[in-house]
Amino acid sequence: MNNGRSMLGAGHWLTSRPGTIIVQPTSLCPLACTYCYLPQRHLKQDMSPSVAAAVAAGIEPDWPLVEIAWHGGEPLAVGPQRLAALLEPFEPLRRAGRV
Ligand code: SF4
Repeated sequence: MNNGRSMLGAGHWLTSRPGTIIVQPTSLCPLACTYCYLPQRHLKQDMSPSVAAAVAAGIEPDWPLVEIAWHGGEPLAVGPQRLAALLEPFEPLRRAGRV
């Protein structure tokens, strides 16, 4: 039965038509919340634009509206030029109302 969901791994149900895609543009975060769960947040490991392009290209035309959640670390810590490069592959989808 294909109801838009598939079973991958040991009992984890994942949808084949995600409503949200969470991306982490950088591991870096200059904050120090006492409840932080990211022990490597002092490292600046930035997502490459090619990864962002691959994520954007993976959004199928028949998917419903997809929310792209830019998650941290602190997403803005990549800097404005890198952030613009990461957003660029999604711009045609945004203009089409698909993300
Ligand atoms: S990654 Fe999130 S929780 Fe951790 S220090 Fe930064 S803002 Fe706080």
